This record gives sequence, C-alpha cells and structure tokens, in this order.
Amino acid sequence: MLNKDDLLLITQAIENGGDIWNNEILRPVKAKIKEYHRSVQDESCCYCRRDTTGEFNMVLDIEHVLPKGHSYFKKYMFTICNLSVSCKRCNLKIKGQKTDFIVDIESAKNNPCDNHLFHFIHPNSDNYYDHIKYIVEIENECRVIKYMVINSSAKGKYTYDFFRLKELEREAMDKSQGVKNVKISDSIDFDIESDIYKLFMER
Ligand SMILES: [Zn+2]
Repeated sequence: MLNKDDLLLITQAIENGGDIWNNEILRPVKAKIKEYHRSVQDESCCYCRRDTTGEFNMVLDIEHVLPKGHSYFKKYMFTICNLSVSCKRCNLKIKGQKTDFIVDIESAKNNPCDNHLFHFIHPNSDNYYDHIKYIVEIENECRVIKYMVINSSAKGKYTYDFFRLKELEREAMDKSQGVKNVKISDSIDFDIESDIYKLFMER
C-alpha cells in the first residue's frame, strides 16, 4: 500500500521530530491510508459500524488500534494492519489512549495485529460480524438499531461494553420517535401569505 515516496516522507517527518503524525508533509500519506481503510470498512466506523452515508452523517478519522501515544507502540504508527477508520465517539470520546483492551501489552509490542491479544474485535484481524450482529431497521418514522452479541462471543460482549454500544441502540417506540403531532397549518400566517401573493400580482 505505502510506497517508496511515502517512505521518504515518513523518514523526513521522523527526522523533523516533534509531533510526527501531524507533520504537514504527511498529508498525502494519511489521505492514502484513510481512503484505503474507508474502503476496507465499507465507509463505516470499525467499532460501532455506523456509516458515513444516510442518517448518521458520520465523520471518520484514521484510528490507531494500538495507540500511537505510547512510546512502545509508536513504531506501528504507519502499520496498515494497526490502522483503521472510526468515528469521533469511539475514537476520541471512548477509546483515546487506553490500553486496557490489550490482553498482553508485552506480547502486543512485538505482535501488533495478533487478534488473540485484543479483548475487543480487532478491525483487521477479526471479522466483526462473527461476533456482533448489527441491525438497523427503518419503517416509516420508526427506527430500530440493535447490537446482538453472537453465540455469547467474549469479544462481542467486550466490544459491546467497551464502546458502550447500548447507548446507540434505539427501540421501535422511543418517545422521541413516532408520528409527530405537528400540523403545519398552526405555523402559517395566511394574511402574510396573501400579502406575498399580492406582491407578485402587482409586478
Ligand atoms: Zn464508532
């Protein structure tokens, strides 16, 4: 995926020091990584599966599965299997620089993509839908969103709890849903509308 030109840019960014990941010269490298992983994840967050199309209008960022903020995982900053795309909720609000989802940090230092070393569903080394079934149903104005852990999968359960997927679920008859009792005639001033018609007729 990454080529020699990318390697040159990464080399330069590392030599420049400081915040390597946010070095401006890496913009094209990051764009390439992001495009690749958006395609792999089918335009959806690798942890909650909500997608960029339709109602969620999600923004996806590059996600480092092993957080790049830890000195011992820094070297995996550009490792394709350690990267994915996720939403801001899962990435910044929930996961951040946490490491408690790693089974064995010592082993992970040398095996960044071994799925056995992750309590949660690894975006690249596991198949999400082997562990969790993600259900979205829309009927008229009612939406049902549900996550179901498959066959008591430990990874499925961990992912469900860790990313607080319950918060994203919606039952069919949420009070906020259902047919709204707003009639548009309540908010129309017919006198004003009539005045507007007249304006056109006078021209
Ligand atoms: Zn997410």
